[in-house]
Amino acid sequence: MRIKRIAALISATILIVSALSACSVSGGVELETEFKTEEATGKQSATAETSVTEGKKFVVSTSDGSPLNLRKGAGIEFDIITTIEDGHTVMIFEQQGSWAKVNYGNYTGWVNMDYLKEETNTSTKTETTTSSSSSSPSSSSTSSTALSSPEKEKTTKSGYKYSYAGFNPQTITVNEDKWNLTLLNRYYCLPEGYVPKLAEAVRGSGVYLDYRVAPYYQKMYDAAKADGITLSPNSGYRSYQTQKTNFENRINSYISSGYDKVTATQNASRIILLPGTSEHNAGLAMDIGWVTQDFEKSSAFAWLCEHAQDYGFILRYPKSEAKQAITKIVYEPWHWRYVGVEAAKAMKASGQVLEEYLGKA
Ligand SMILES: [Zn+2]
Repeated sequence: MRIKRIAALISATILIVSALSACSVSGGVELETEFKTEEATGKQSATAETSVTEGKKFVVSTSDGSPLNLRKGAGIEFDIITTIEDGHTVMIFEQQGSWAKVNYGNYTGWVNMDYLKEETNTSTKTETTTSSSSSSPSSSSTSSTALSSPEKEKTTKSGYKYSYAGFNPQTITVNEDKWNLTLLNRYYCLPEGYVPKLAEAVRGSGVYLDYRVAPYYQKMYDAAKADGITLSPNSGYRSYQTQKTNFENRINSYISSGYDKVTATQNASRIILLPGTSEHNAGLAMDIGWVTQDFEKSSAFAWLCEHAQDYGFILRYPKSEAKQAITKIVYEPWHWRYVGVEAAKAMKASGQVLEEYLGKA
């Protein structure tokens, strides 16, 4: 019965998990490994509630009064059909993750729900957080009157949006003096909606990094080029929103195959890094070359191992099992993190990973 089912789930999970890594497969999905399975037990979720928004009217409410993009599909990769002025009303008739299909005038398209506020005075849009942990009386309707700030996130005011499923990374504030040493992992995440200032990593590549990192990547790229090596910038900055959309789409697909919301969220977390916990969300990391482990056999990898620290980059997820136990991420020869030249040289010399270097291992 229940226990059997959990046991089966756990062993299935272990199988899946052992095959995963922390970075991107195509399309920018983050993978992670070695997820602890204990949260899978002992928790019952409340109900799944993905479509409470359908048929309701919402007001467009962007924080800065700018118009909202109406797109052809549920994601920022889709073309913009038109824009909707702040304060205008739309009717939702379908929801997919954090995207809503709406009618607006003669147009039908998708908008990011973070910029919508329910028109009526009843509770929040998608969240009715579960009561699995008995200790959080935080859910239900927050005051839905203030039209100026995204109230959706206030439902888990005391913590992380996915805390209902046992995830409580600490939200960090990026320290502007030590921005290059920002630690992101399953215990530390960026504030919701964090967007760094960006610059193209390599001219014409269409791949972006934090604007303070991009010049170092370009320099490193040029130096490698001079040695006859191409450090192809494969995937750099990926927005918090994209991470969240991918994550929630995955949750929803588990829910539609019959999992309760808590389990669906835990399953999703084994495949996609939690929103805000990926270094790509900060624009501080680049996936170079290709994202399989045989990248380690490439001349680009050999070049990086010899020179990357001179440009401030480190191999963030090394191969040794001892290091994997600290990073909680499998070996990723392609994922290079900017930490600044001084820290990179020090870490290269000591063999420490970022967690150790910062005393947070
Ligand atoms: Zn990566």
